[in-house]
Amino acid sequence: MQLLHFKKQLKKHKKSFTSERKQIFLLAQKMQHFSAQELFEALKEKSKISRMSVFRTVQLFEQIGVLRKVITNSNAVRYELNTEENHHEHMQCSVCGQIIEFPDNSLHNQLEKIAEKHDFKIQEHSLFLRGLCKKCNH
Ligand SMILES: [Zn+2]
Ligand SMILES: [Zn+2]
Repeated sequence: MQLLHFKKQLKKHKKSFTSERKQIFLLAQKMQHFSAQELFEALKEKSKISRMSVFRTVQLFEQIGVLRKVITNSNAVRYELNTEENHHEHMQCSVCGQIIEFPDNSLHNQLEKIAEKHDFKIQEHSLFLRGLCKKCNH
């Protein structure tokens, strides 16, 4: 997601484009699969932003579709920018915790077919695999 799209998204939901929101967005662009806490840690060195407002902003971003939750089985909720152009799913190693992304183009078609059989319209989906990565499997 580009900055321009981000601005549009805010406008669409009648939210203003503040410097705090911009800061958080730009940081989210650079990080992958981050938690709100990690965002806060990265920000607090350069700005006076409070933990509370980082958490609130992350929540807002999720509501307006700027961020999406990365579903993992662990308690830590992680997020990533919602990039329609680059839809992918995740698998996580249960030993080292590394998260691996994989594209799901062909899976997506499969899911559409399954849903169709049930006369079901998919609005969103996410797939999460847990297992052992190459390194930890040896
Ligand atoms: Zn591993
Ligand atoms: Zn991802």
